[in-house]
Amino acid sequence: MRKKMVAGNWKMHGNLAENEQLLNAIIPSLSELRANVQFAVCVPFPYLSSVQNLLQHTNIALGAQNVSQFDKGAYTGEVSVAMLNDFGCSYVIVGHSERRMLYGESNALVADKYIAAQHGKLIPILCVGETLEQREAGITEQVIQEQLRAVTEKAGVDSLSKAVIAYEPVWAIGTGKTASPQQAQDIHASIRQGIAIQSADVADELTILYGGSVKANNASELFAMPDIDGGLIGGASLIADEFIAISRALNN
Ligand code: PEP
Repeated sequence: MRKKMVAGNWKMHGNLAENEQLLNAIIPSLSELRANVQFAVCVPFPYLSSVQNLLQHTNIALGAQNVSQFDKGAYTGEVSVAMLNDFGCSYVIVGHSERRMLYGESNALVADKYIAAQHGKLIPILCVGETLEQREAGITEQVIQEQLRAVTEKAGVDSLSKAVIAYEPVWAIGTGKTASPQQAQDIHASIRQGIAIQSADVADELTILYGGSVKANNASELFAMPDIDGGLIGGASLIADEFIAISRALNN
């Protein structure tokens, strides 16, 4: 059975006190939910240690938001997979559209980060998605297939059995505009079909999250779609009641 997941992407938000307050509000409610849903929070690097402590003996996994493609060396400002391992990370987001667009991360670089993560036994949450311009030009599926192909050509399709994909239309991230459940379902289905051409088993088991302005009030209808296995949650993951309600919506 496909694993379901709700992951929070805190982006560059929070501080020691706020993080503790947020997690102390979330942890008890999520602990009551069923075990077949994986919960995770992907936090800024400086808070990995304190959040690792707060998450001990909970059902919430720890993730990071970025990682270097290199093992070690003279790469000022970068953080390696081994360093994330040191703080008990299980997940790392790779290829978030903010990194692709603001920091020029190419498909090839994202593939290298994905491979590095898996070498270090981290589960990459591989983000794919189109801009508004690309959607309007009718090339959404082409863009996403290229983003995926860059990874499967380098890492092999079987690598996806130890990865999570997040479909995040760029026009829906942080904008309050959500893809309609049907729009999201169509892309999730096409992602799964594209992978099924290479391996039906991998496609069948692959967890594909939707991300882009998921909130408590739209989560249930998105999660009801057959190919949507959960959500990658930005803004709403910083509000305890929202994150709890979204998690409950998947758990139903
Ligand atoms: C994200 O950036 O991963 C995201 C989904 O953000 P938001 O939920 O705020 O649109």
